[in-house]
Amino acid sequence: MTTVLPPIPTETAGTDAVAALRSAVTGIVAGPGEPGYERAMPWNVAVPVAPRAVVIAADADDVGATMRVAADHGLTVAVAATGHGAVPVDGSSILVHTSALTECVVDPAGRTARVGAGVQWQTVIDAATPHGLAPLVGSSPAVGVVGFLTGCGIGPLVRTFGLSSDHVRAFEVVTGAGEQMRVTPDEHADLFWGLRGGKGTLGIVTAVEIDLLPVPQFYGGALYFDGADADVVLRTWRDWSADLPEHTNTSIAFLQLPPLPDVPPPLAGRFTVAVRYTSVADPTDAARLLAPMRAVAHSIIDMVDVMPYAAIGAVHADPVDPMPSTEQHTLLAELPDAAIDTLMTGAGPQSGSPQVIVEIRRLGGAFGRPATVDSAFCQRDAEYTLLAIGVLAPEIAAVVPVHAAGLMSVMEPWSTGGRLPNFGASGDAARIARCYDEDTRHWLAALADQYDPAGVLRVGQVVRRAP
Ligand SMILES: Cc1cc2nc3c(=O)[nH]c(=O)nc-3n(C[C@H](O)[C@H](O)[C@H](O)COP(=O)(O)OP(=O)(O)OC[C@H]3O[C@@H](n4cnc5c(N)ncnc54)[C@H](O)[C@@H]3O)c2cc1C
Repeated sequence: MTTVLPPIPTETAGTDAVAALRSAVTGIVAGPGEPGYERAMPWNVAVPVAPRAVVIAADADDVGATMRVAADHGLTVAVAATGHGAVPVDGSSILVHTSALTECVVDPAGRTARVGAGVQWQTVIDAATPHGLAPLVGSSPAVGVVGFLTGCGIGPLVRTFGLSSDHVRAFEVVTGAGEQMRVTPDEHADLFWGLRGGKGTLGIVTAVEIDLLPVPQFYGGALYFDGADADVVLRTWRDWSADLPEHTNTSIAFLQLPPLPDVPPPLAGRFTVAVRYTSVADPTDAARLLAPMRAVAHSIIDMVDVMPYAAIGAVHADPVDPMPSTEQHTLLAELPDAAIDTLMTGAGPQSGSPQVIVEIRRLGGAFGRPATVDSAFCQRDAEYTLLAIGVLAPEIAAVVPVHAAGLMSVMEPWSTGGRLPNFGASGDAARIARCYDEDTRHWLAALADQYDPAGVLRVGQVVRRAP
């Protein structure tokens, strides 16, 4: 006779799991209210992250042990470093926090860096700069290196050097089955393909080896214009940026920055337009190329000049402090007059837009070409990113995401239909699906089944077959 046992109540299963974690892991294991649990609070404080426990992993063994404990107790495992791309996590998951994996070693002769999963880009910049070398960072040096690279990474020099993930040499990863692997173009090439674009689908990365580039300085920064000039600045930018050489990159942003102490007074509490510029051309040539944008209207601030690479974060001047924010984006195939008219109506100075930033980045150049080693990135046909970022202040919290969704919807006629793995982080399956073509979705899900048969990593921004 078969005895059917009653299911274990979730709380009991969770408590046993935490006890098992404490004996299996050398790093900190923190349940709600215990020291260390506060690490779960993401940079984007609007995202609810309330795992059963936080494991501040001391090493790859801890990550492997967490995978096994989770599998034994029917829990899933999420991962976080900074919470810049946080997705909701509840009590059915353990959160591996990588902040204690802080290794950052530069090899100047080999022009590489070996970087732990808890490291932010600024640390790599600081370690590489004395050698005249530079990592290919994104707009904010406070973002985590590994989170950025598993989403491929579109930085201020993307047209010149391609995706940041095209400059990864190796990953060290722990699969959902708890196996530790070194992954390169030649070893476990299937994982090397899928970790670049697949976010946390195929494992938790504990360290990465990346190329450093001989870029000690660049000519760049931002020109800021008054909102009254938004229409002419945007149309001129579109025409001017159409044929820029690959050594030069640009984006444009409609800004409505709050009057906070770190916001320059000329930009605070009003509608302004930023034209960002980064060029590795000779500074005289780069300045000559920028001249038509300098001439388009009177600039409120012109901070474009020769800059040390270490100051690259100043180009976008992204917010540093944690905030409750929301992000929606799309990718554009073109930006004809009708698209600009629609954008001006939806997000221009007369629109009543509640977004703090509405930004368009010019793609093309090296971004558009296939990488030497193929990856799971599927959006190289896009010509522009369009991103809306809003702050969820209580009085407008309900309006901001609805407005952003409406903006993306009216821009749909010019969209490629694709999405970036790194922008607008979400666990929503429909959004995740738009990051990949059908073949890539299929192979990511098949690899996930192979390397994580128990489905331990089936949480957050991952590609899996429907259960
Ligand atoms: C202010 C700001 C500026 C940004 N600028 C850019 C930009 O210019 N270009 C760009 O491409 N993106 C940009 N992003 C998006 C950013 O790259 C992603 O949100 C990225 O996921 C952040 O990584 P994180 O580790 O800091 O965040 P976390 O929230 O800690 O992690 C986010 C996700 O990354 C993955 N991940 C993190 N660690 C690991 C790991 N060890 N192993 C496997 N997967 C992992 C997981 O899917 C995780 O859910 C920006 C985001 C912000 C908030």
